[in-house]
Amino acid sequence: MPFDLEREIEKLESVRSGRDPKPPTHRQLDIILRDERLVPILYWTEAYTPQHFVGRANAVSASIRKRVVAALQAGEVLTNYKGLAACRICKKLLGSSDLTDGKHVWPYKAEHYITEHQVWVPGLENLVG
Ligand SMILES: [Zn+2]
Repeated sequence: MPFDLEREIEKLESVRSGRDPKPPTHRQLDIILRDERLVPILYWTEAYTPQHFVGRANAVSASIRKRVVAALQAGEVLTNYKGLAACRICKKLLGSSDLTDGKHVWPYKAEHYITEHQVWVPGLENLVG
């Protein structure tokens, strides 16, 4: 079947609105990414570092932490890169992919920051509703 942008966008809107419980296809995810509507989480810059948030996960309920870690681990691969990313705190190699749930995007093994360094950034709980 030829690619029909209007139809794909309609399917995408259906997924995003929660009407369609099926996970988005790779093509839909590409559309989301191009539109820059995925919310990036647990990406760092020189000014926005994980060191600012170390220990904050201890103030979050164990149940929420556990659900967020599970959601991060359950993400679908969105993009693969050639280079390996390392933890900004302990330098452990984490991976070379971005994962998504269709609404957010995060680096592979981002849960490492939570489980190993008790990092928690504002809004992380939105991953689990
Ligand atoms: Zn680390």
